[in-house]
Amino acid sequence: MQPLNIHLVTLGQQKEPIDIQFLQAWKSKVFSVRHVQHIEIAPDTDGPNWSYTDRALRSTIRPTPSADVTVAIVSSPLEGNYYSRRLGEGVCALSLHEMAGITRRAHFKVENFLIRSIYGYAIYHHVFGHVPASAEASWSHHATRRCVFDMNGLKEDIVYSLHQPRLCEECLMRLRAAQIPPDFAQSVQRELLLLKKGALYRFLDWANAYPGRALAWGVVASVVINVCSNYIYDHASKLRNVLDEAVNSVTNNSSNERTRP
Ligand SMILES: [Zn+2]
Repeated sequence: MQPLNIHLVTLGQQKEPIDIQFLQAWKSKVFSVRHVQHIEIAPDTDGPNWSYTDRALRSTIRPTPSADVTVAIVSSPLEGNYYSRRLGEGVCALSLHEMAGITRRAHFKVENFLIRSIYGYAIYHHVFGHVPASAEASWSHHATRRCVFDMNGLKEDIVYSLHQPRLCEECLMRLRAAQIPPDFAQSVQRELLLLKKGALYRFLDWANAYPGRALAWGVVASVVINVCSNYIYDHASKLRNVLDEAVNSVTNNSSNERTRP
Protein backbone atom coordinates (compact mmCIF):
# COMPACT_ATOMS: atom_id res chain seq x y z
CA MET A 1 0.00 0.00 0.00
CA GLN A 2 1.50 3.28 -1.14
CA PRO A 3 0.81 6.14 1.33
CA LEU A 4 -1.23 9.00 -0.10
CA ASN A 5 0.46 12.35 -0.46
CA ILE A 6 -1.52 14.84 1.59
CA HIS A 7 -0.47 18.42 0.96
CA LEU A 8 -1.46 21.10 3.43
CA VAL A 9 -2.15 24.68 2.42
CA THR A 10 -2.75 27.24 5.15
CA LEU A 11 -4.94 30.12 4.10
CA GLY A 12 -4.57 33.55 5.69
CA GLN A 13 -3.61 34.43 9.25
CA GLN A 14 -4.19 31.45 11.55
CA LYS A 15 -5.85 32.59 14.78
CA GLU A 16 -4.78 29.36 16.46
CA PRO A 17 -1.23 28.03 16.14
CA ILE A 18 -0.91 24.73 14.31
CA ASP A 19 1.89 22.29 15.06
CA ILE A 20 2.88 21.55 11.49
CA GLN A 21 5.78 19.38 12.69
CA PHE A 22 3.35 17.12 14.56
CA LEU A 23 1.28 16.67 11.39
CA GLN A 24 4.27 16.04 9.16
CA ALA A 25 5.80 13.59 11.64
CA TRP A 26 2.62 11.50 11.96
CA LYS A 27 3.68 7.94 11.14
CA SER A 28 1.21 6.25 8.86
CA LYS A 29 1.10 3.59 6.18
CA VAL A 30 -2.05 5.26 4.84
CA PHE A 31 -0.81 8.79 4.14
CA SER A 32 2.04 11.22 4.62
CA VAL A 33 1.52 14.92 5.30
CA ARG A 34 3.53 17.82 3.93
CA HIS A 35 2.88 21.53 4.38
CA VAL A 36 3.53 22.97 0.94
CA GLN A 37 2.10 26.46 0.88
CA HIS A 38 0.93 29.36 3.00
CA ILE A 39 -1.34 31.89 1.32
CA GLU A 40 -0.73 35.01 3.36
CA ILE A 41 -3.46 37.21 1.93
CA ALA A 42 -6.76 35.36 2.11
CA PRO A 43 -9.58 36.58 -0.11
CA ASP A 44 -12.64 38.22 1.42
CA THR A 45 -15.34 35.83 2.54
CA ASP A 46 -18.39 35.65 0.31
CA GLY A 47 -20.92 33.69 2.37
CA PRO A 48 -23.21 34.54 5.27
CA ASN A 49 -21.68 35.14 8.70
CA TRP A 50 -18.23 35.76 7.22
CA SER A 51 -17.98 32.29 5.77
CA TYR A 52 -16.38 30.94 2.62
CA THR A 53 -18.63 29.27 0.08
CA ASP A 54 -17.33 26.16 -1.66
CA ARG A 55 -17.19 28.17 -4.89
CA ALA A 56 -14.90 30.80 -3.36
CA LEU A 57 -12.53 28.19 -1.94
CA ARG A 58 -12.49 26.24 -5.19
CA SER A 59 -11.30 29.33 -7.04
CA THR A 60 -8.63 30.05 -4.38
CA ILE A 61 -7.23 26.62 -3.52
CA ARG A 62 -5.91 24.66 -6.46
CA PRO A 63 -4.73 21.04 -6.29
CA THR A 64 -1.00 21.07 -5.71
CA PRO A 65 1.22 19.07 -8.07
CA SER A 66 1.97 15.49 -6.96
CA ALA A 67 -0.65 15.66 -4.19
CA ASP A 68 -3.33 12.99 -3.95
CA VAL A 69 -5.30 15.27 -1.65
CA THR A 70 -4.79 18.98 -1.01
CA VAL A 71 -6.16 20.11 2.35
CA ALA A 72 -6.68 23.80 3.03
CA ILE A 73 -6.77 24.91 6.67
CA VAL A 74 -8.72 28.10 7.27
CA SER A 75 -9.83 30.05 10.31
CA SER A 76 -13.10 31.34 8.82
CA PRO A 77 -16.37 29.36 8.80
CA LEU A 78 -17.11 27.15 5.80
CA GLU A 79 -20.30 26.76 3.81
CA GLY A 80 -23.20 25.72 6.04
CA ASN A 81 -20.92 26.19 9.07
CA TYR A 82 -19.50 22.71 8.50
CA TYR A 83 -15.98 22.15 9.75
CA SER A 84 -15.05 20.08 6.71
CA ARG A 85 -15.91 20.49 3.06
CA ARG A 86 -14.80 18.35 0.15
CA LEU A 87 -14.55 20.65 -2.84
CA GLY A 88 -13.80 18.21 -5.65
CA GLU A 89 -10.66 17.83 -7.77
CA GLY A 90 -8.84 16.41 -4.75
CA VAL A 91 -9.20 19.58 -2.68
CA CYS A 92 -10.68 19.64 0.83
CA ALA A 93 -11.05 22.39 3.41
CA LEU A 94 -10.93 22.18 7.19
CA SER A 95 -12.01 25.11 9.34
CA LEU A 96 -10.71 25.81 12.82
CA HIS A 97 -13.64 28.18 13.42
CA GLU A 98 -15.17 26.98 16.74
CA MET A 99 -13.27 23.70 16.41
CA ALA A 100 -10.07 25.06 17.93
CA GLY A 101 -11.98 26.20 21.04
CA ILE A 102 -13.96 22.96 21.29
CA THR A 103 -10.85 20.79 21.10
CA ARG A 104 -8.87 22.97 23.52
CA ARG A 105 -11.66 23.04 26.12
CA ALA A 106 -11.76 19.23 26.02
CA HIS A 107 -7.96 19.15 26.45
CA PHE A 108 -7.20 17.89 22.96
CA LYS A 109 -4.70 19.26 20.53
CA VAL A 110 -6.23 20.78 17.45
CA GLU A 111 -3.88 18.51 15.47
CA ASN A 112 -5.93 15.50 16.66
CA PHE A 113 -8.89 17.03 14.85
CA LEU A 114 -6.83 17.57 11.69
CA ILE A 115 -5.31 14.06 11.64
CA ARG A 116 -8.70 12.45 12.32
CA SER A 117 -10.22 14.37 9.40
CA ILE A 118 -7.35 13.46 7.08
CA TYR A 119 -8.00 9.75 7.78
CA GLY A 120 -11.55 10.34 6.53
CA TYR A 121 -10.26 11.92 3.30
CA ALA A 122 -7.74 9.10 2.85
CA ILE A 123 -10.48 6.47 3.18
CA TYR A 124 -12.65 8.26 0.63
CA HIS A 125 -9.67 8.35 -1.74
CA HIS A 126 -8.99 4.66 -1.22
CA VAL A 127 -12.59 3.69 -1.97
CA PHE A 128 -13.47 6.11 -4.77
CA GLY A 129 -10.03 6.61 -6.31
CA HIS A 130 -10.39 10.31 -5.50
CA VAL A 131 -11.98 12.38 -2.75
CA PRO A 132 -15.54 13.03 -3.90
CA ALA A 133 -17.08 16.47 -3.39
CA SER A 134 -19.38 16.80 -0.38
CA ALA A 135 -22.42 16.91 -2.68
CA GLU A 136 -21.26 13.83 -4.59
CA ALA A 137 -21.00 11.23 -1.82
CA SER A 138 -20.95 11.04 1.95
CA TRP A 139 -20.33 8.30 4.48
CA SER A 140 -21.21 10.51 7.44
CA HIS A 141 -23.79 9.00 9.78
CA HIS A 142 -25.84 10.94 12.31
CA ALA A 143 -25.15 8.52 15.16
CA THR A 144 -22.10 9.35 17.25
CA ARG A 145 -20.05 6.14 17.44
CA ARG A 146 -16.52 7.49 18.05
CA CYS A 147 -16.10 6.89 14.33
CA VAL A 148 -14.13 8.95 11.81
CA PHE A 149 -17.39 9.35 9.88
CA ASP A 150 -19.52 10.64 12.76
CA MET A 151 -21.55 13.55 11.38
CA ASN A 152 -21.13 15.67 14.54
CA GLY A 153 -24.14 17.82 13.71
CA LEU A 154 -23.43 19.34 17.09
CA LYS A 155 -19.83 20.33 16.64
CA GLU A 156 -19.03 19.61 20.29
CA ASP A 157 -19.56 15.90 19.56
CA ILE A 158 -16.25 15.86 17.72
CA VAL A 159 -14.56 15.26 21.08
CA TYR A 160 -15.91 11.67 21.10
CA SER A 161 -13.82 10.84 18.04
CA LEU A 162 -10.59 12.61 18.93
CA HIS A 163 -9.25 10.05 21.42
CA GLN A 164 -8.58 6.68 19.81
CA PRO A 165 -11.30 7.01 17.17
CA ARG A 166 -12.21 4.02 15.03
CA LEU A 167 -14.25 2.86 12.09
CA CYS A 168 -17.70 1.71 13.21
CA GLU A 169 -19.26 -1.52 11.97
CA GLU A 170 -21.34 0.33 9.35
CA CYS A 171 -18.24 1.98 7.87
CA LEU A 172 -16.29 -1.30 7.97
CA MET A 173 -19.18 -2.92 6.06
CA ARG A 174 -18.93 -0.17 3.45
CA LEU A 175 -15.23 -0.91 3.04
CA ARG A 176 -15.96 -4.61 2.63
CA ALA A 177 -18.72 -3.83 0.13
CA ALA A 178 -16.23 -1.74 -1.86
CA GLN A 179 -13.94 -4.80 -1.86
CA ILE A 180 -11.15 -2.94 -0.08
CA PRO A 181 -8.58 -5.47 1.22
CA PRO A 182 -9.00 -6.02 4.96
CA ASP A 183 -5.40 -5.03 5.71
CA PHE A 184 -6.27 -1.43 4.81
CA ALA A 185 -9.00 -1.24 7.46
CA GLN A 186 -6.67 -2.97 9.93
CA SER A 187 -3.94 -0.40 9.30
CA VAL A 188 -6.40 2.46 9.73
CA GLN A 189 -7.81 1.02 12.95
CA ARG A 190 -4.34 0.36 14.34
CA GLU A 191 -3.12 3.87 13.58
CA LEU A 192 -6.27 5.53 14.91
CA LEU A 193 -5.55 3.93 18.29
CA LEU A 194 -2.38 6.03 18.43
CA LEU A 195 -4.36 9.26 18.16
CA LYS A 196 -4.77 10.06 21.85
CA LYS A 197 -5.34 12.75 24.40
CA GLY A 198 -2.19 13.73 26.35
CA ALA A 199 -1.17 11.39 29.19
CA LEU A 200 -1.81 13.96 31.96
CA TYR A 201 -5.36 14.65 30.75
CA ARG A 202 -6.04 10.93 30.29
CA PHE A 203 -5.08 10.47 33.95
CA LEU A 204 -7.29 13.39 35.02
CA ASP A 205 -10.21 11.95 33.03
CA TRP A 206 -9.69 8.61 34.77
CA ALA A 207 -9.50 10.29 38.21
CA ASN A 208 -12.74 12.17 37.48
CA ALA A 209 -14.46 8.98 36.34
CA TYR A 210 -13.24 6.90 39.32
CA PRO A 211 -12.58 9.30 42.23
CA GLY A 212 -12.60 6.47 44.83
CA ARG A 213 -9.92 4.47 43.02
CA ALA A 214 -7.90 7.63 42.41
CA LEU A 215 -7.98 8.43 46.13
CA ALA A 216 -6.96 4.85 47.05
CA TRP A 217 -4.07 4.89 44.58
CA GLY A 218 -3.03 8.31 45.92
CA VAL A 219 -2.83 6.91 49.47
CA VAL A 220 -0.86 3.85 48.30
CA ALA A 221 1.50 6.03 46.27
CA SER A 222 2.15 8.39 49.21
CA VAL A 223 2.94 5.42 51.53
CA VAL A 224 5.31 3.89 48.96
CA ILE A 225 7.05 7.23 48.40
CA ASN A 226 7.39 7.72 52.18
CA VAL A 227 8.90 4.24 52.71
CA CYS A 228 11.29 4.69 49.79
CA SER A 229 12.43 8.13 50.94
CA ASN A 230 13.10 6.81 54.51
CA TYR A 231 15.06 3.88 53.07
CA ILE A 232 17.16 6.22 50.90
CA TYR A 233 17.72 8.61 53.83
CA ASP A 234 18.90 5.80 56.15
CA HIS A 235 21.34 4.41 53.60
CA ALA A 236 22.60 7.87 52.71
CA SER A 237 23.25 8.58 56.42
CA LYS A 238 25.14 5.30 56.86
CA LEU A 239 27.21 5.98 53.76
CA ARG A 240 28.03 9.46 55.01
CA ASN A 241 29.17 8.07 58.40
CA VAL A 242 31.41 5.54 56.66
CA LEU A 243 32.95 8.26 54.51
CA ASP A 244 33.45 10.55 57.54
CA GLU A 245 35.25 7.75 59.42
CA ALA A 246 37.46 7.04 56.43
CA VAL A 247 38.38 10.72 56.06
CA ASN A 248 39.14 11.01 59.80
CA SER A 249 41.30 7.90 59.68
CA VAL A 250 43.34 9.25 56.75
CA THR A 251 43.73 12.63 58.49
CA ASN A 252 44.95 11.05 61.77
CA ASN A 253 47.46 8.82 59.98
CA SER A 254 49.00 11.72 58.08
CA SER A 255 49.15 13.78 61.29
CA ASN A 256 51.00 10.95 63.08
CA GLU A 257 53.45 10.71 60.18
CA ARG A 258 54.34 14.42 60.49
CA THR A 259 54.83 14.36 64.32
CA ARG A 260 57.07 11.23 64.28
CA PRO A 261 60.70 12.21 65.16
ZN1 LIG B 1 -18.86 4.99 11.02
